[in-house]
This record gives sequence, structure tokens and C-alpha cells, in this order.
Amino acid sequence: MVSNSTIADLLIPKVEFTPEDLRTRYPSRALPEGAMVTRFAPSPTGFFHIGGLYTALISHKLARQSQGVFFLRIEDTDKKREVEGAADLVIQSLRKYGLIPDEGETGPGLEVGQYGPYRQSARVDIYHTFVYRLLLEEKAYACFATPEELEEIRSQQEKEKIRPGYYGPWAIWRNRSQEEVRDALNAGKPYVIRLKSPGDINQRVLFSDLIRGELELPENDQDIVILKSDGLPTYHAAHVIDDHLMGTTHVLRGDEWVSSVPLHLQLFQAFGWVPPLFGHIAPIQKMDGNSRRKLSKRKDPEASVLYYDEQGYPKEAVIEYLMNLADSGFEEWRTNHLSKSYYDFNLEISRCSRSGALFDAAKLGSISKEVIGSLNAIETYEQGLHWATQYNPALASLMSRDPVYSQNILNIERESEKVRKDITKWSDLEYEIGYFFDDYFFEKSLDPASFQGIENLDDIQRAIQEFIDGYDESDDKDQWFHKLKIIASNHGYAESTKAFKKNPTEFKGHVGDIAKLIRMLLTGRNQSPDLWEIMRVMGKARCAQRLNHLETLVKKGS
Ligand code: GLU
Repeated sequence: MVSNSTIADLLIPKVEFTPEDLRTRYPSRALPEGAMVTRFAPSPTGFFHIGGLYTALISHKLARQSQGVFFLRIEDTDKKREVEGAADLVIQSLRKYGLIPDEGETGPGLEVGQYGPYRQSARVDIYHTFVYRLLLEEKAYACFATPEELEEIRSQQEKEKIRPGYYGPWAIWRNRSQEEVRDALNAGKPYVIRLKSPGDINQRVLFSDLIRGELELPENDQDIVILKSDGLPTYHAAHVIDDHLMGTTHVLRGDEWVSSVPLHLQLFQAFGWVPPLFGHIAPIQKMDGNSRRKLSKRKDPEASVLYYDEQGYPKEAVIEYLMNLADSGFEEWRTNHLSKSYYDFNLEISRCSRSGALFDAAKLGSISKEVIGSLNAIETYEQGLHWATQYNPALASLMSRDPVYSQNILNIERESEKVRKDITKWSDLEYEIGYFFDDYFFEKSLDPASFQGIENLDDIQRAIQEFIDGYDESDDKDQWFHKLKIIASNHGYAESTKAFKKNPTEFKGHVGDIAKLIRMLLTGRNQSPDLWEIMRVMGKARCAQRLNHLETLVKKGS
């Protein structure tokens, strides 16, 4: 008669620890009452979804506001799906968005915290310890079913139109004798370890989800794989063991896991542990025509965290926006606490949308405009340059050529009463400031075609010449405009639109026509920030050079 422990030793050799050793190594956390221990547990599969950042933000916020702990655990036991560099992308993104974990990896080769290692592939001995214990207690067993046999089971179930899976009578290794297991082992057959599920599909499991409320789901009766043939655990087993040892109190994760809760509760029970609380976050959605759907990794560029970086949304804007999605009470709080950090808001997980928050690009844009609008000129310059250095090197080189000039440009309508809000994201910068730089301006901003069909060209040219000759950088805005009006009037243009409209036949046009042309000549655009401010920043010589260009442009365009 072969003993159970002999078999367990053969199935999982070299188990170094006992569960008790590990309990000593990872003692219960001494935290104040009510402190939440949360975690973010991504699988490094290469794409960092905005929904992941959203989940991390919620988890981080809940831990911080309760004086708890937020840790990062890299769930890399599925070696087939792992992509190199994917974990670093998460680590760096969390850092960028200020969601630095209290424990876990915080940078290349850096790990903090007493409950590590925080990468599952480095915890294999820990998983073996507990799976070994389940084998001893006959709560788990070895399964040598071949892929062909499993396929056969699947197709038989399909034929009989019954529930697929490895359970009940279909669990062909569940009740094998120790001798059969030993023989299979001796024959060198590959195997997995499965949970011997005590569940009954006809029974219901009740649990209270932090977001979705009371839920009732069928019990799990599948003998799921807990240890794969490569010796690594499955997600289900690994995260249960980790969340227990790492002292997680609140699991916040995507709602694709909600149907696995009965299984997870069963695993906690099999190990003899109290499960944490669960909150399942519905995926962020978007409108597609008239219907809602999940943000899709394939279809929607905004599904990727990197998109926000590339577009140049300031991190505060992204976080602020996600807070709006996370808690329906945030927006009102923000209206009453304009200058506070989002940290001062108390996030209430029960206010998180059950059906899935709707992504609203316009809302993100308006938050982002406010964030950029609240920066002073130097901050705008520094943050804009930081973005451009990575994503628009040509712009970065223009901006860094003359930092003071660049800062003056960015200060137009900035440190003033009515702040400019034309920059939504840093990728708008090129359009908003490029024309201030001569080489850029002559190459990209000016379109000779816009200077066609100008009536009374000679008059206008003379007026513009007079205007620049008499231009004085120290004139205030009223003086500046007054001069322009006089010149306009001297050349047969009304001093205001009103005067022109009263007697249109008396004038060639009005002062606005001249101002419009000046704007076009200086900026290449029909609309711009305040022209008086633009001229002060550009300086007289540059303005003169651009204004003298009219004739050439008219010729070029004809
Ligand atoms: N690694 C799992 C995932 O990326 C984590 C789920 C969880 O947070 O428990 O979906």
C-alpha cells in the first residue's frame, strides 16, 4: 500500500517549508483598525489597459485614505502570455501617475516590503508548500489526463449538450488509487494537480460584493488545475495563497473575475483561511454609435495607458478624470474644493458604477485644459518641453533654443485674469506655439493661398507699413489699438465695425479687416490669442519682417 505522503513527495519533491514556517515568515500585519490592504496584480502581457490604471487608482486610494497598505504583485505564472518589458511598463506607469506602491517592485531591480517576493514566479516554493498540504489532506490530486483525453471529454460533453469541464464523473483522475498514480509517475507521464472540489453546482453561494452588492452564484464543482505541469500554479491558486500571506483585506479587480468568486471562496476554505472582501469593477465603456461597449484594446487607442502619455494629457488630468469615473460623488466635491488634492476626497467604493463608467473624451479634455491652464508660464514650459523631448523632438528643439522667448509665448494670456485655455494636451503645443518660431512659421504656418483676393492691396500695405513703423512695444493695449484705428481711418477704413455698418459705402472696410490681415501675417492663422500680446512677445523686428511679407505672399499665391 502506497501512502498518501509518499505520493505527495513524488508529486511535489523538495518542499522546503511547512505552512507554519510561512506563517511565521509572513506574520499578520499590525495595522490600525479599518486599514485596508489592497493590491494591484497585473499579468505582464504587454498592454497596460486604462482599466488597469483605474483599478490601481481605486486600490491605492482606498489603502492610503485608511492608513493601510497598497502593494503591487506581478502575476507572471502564465509564461506563454508573458511579454518582456510588460512589468516595467506597469511599474513606470504607476510611478508616473503617483500610484507608487508601498510594497512590491518600484523600479528595475528594486523591491520593497516584508511580504515578498512580489513576483509570482519567484514564489514557487511557497505555492508548492500549500499545494503539498492540500495533497496530504486529500483536497487535491494528481491528474494525468492527456490532451487527447481532455479533448475527448469536451467533445462528448458537447455531443450530450451538457456543461463542459472537468467535474463529477468527468473528473477521470479524481478517484484513482495511489498505486495508479504511482504507476503513472513511474511511467514518466506529465501531470497537473487539481483541486478536489467539494462543491455542488445545484447549491448557491452568497457573498456581498463591495461594488455590486449581494450576489448569489452557483457553487463551483470543477476540479480546476491549481498546479500546472510546468510546476507553476494557476492564477486561481496563486492569488489566493498570496492574498492570504500578504494580508490583503480588499481585492479590487476587473469584473471578469466575478464568476470565479465561488471557486476562490472554495480555495480559501480548502486552505482554512478567511477570504478577503471582493469588489468587482465594471470595465470602462464608450459609446459606439448609439450603443455602449467596453473600451477595446484592439479598436480604441484610448484603451492604452500609453495613449495618454503620447497625447500629452498631464498625469493630474488623467487621475482627476479617473476619480470622476470611480466615484459619482467626486464631481460635486471637486466643485466645492477647487484647490484641494484628490487625496483629500474620501473615495467610497460603493459609489463606483456597477454597470461600467462611460469614457467621455470631452470631459477628460476639459479637465486637462483646466490643469494646463492652472500652470504658470515656467511650469507650462517645463512640462511641455518634457513631453516634447520624448514625443516631438523638433518642437523640443525649437522650445529649448530660447527658453525665455518660449516662456513669454506660453505666458500670453496665462498669468492673467482670463487665462487661456487653448491647450488641452501637450500634443496641441506645436499648433499653438509653432508659429512664433521663424523657421517653423515660414515653412509650416503661412499659406500664400490665404492672401488672395485682398481688395485695396496698396492701401492696406501702406497702412500696415505705417502701423509697424509707429509700433512701440511699450504702448499699452489701448494705445496700440488707438494707433491702429487712426491709421485705418487715414486710409479710408472705418474705426469700428459699427461705424462701417452705418455707412458701408463710405469706407473701403473697417479696422477689423486690417487687424485680420495683420493677424494672418503674424501668425498664419485667422484666430489667435490677443494680437497686442503676441506682438509684444514677438518683438518689433520679427513683426516687421513678417508684415513686410505681404507682397511676396500675394505674388506667390497668384
Ligand atoms: N492577474 C489578474 C489579472 O490581471 C489579477 C486579477 C486580480 O486582481 O485578482 O486580471
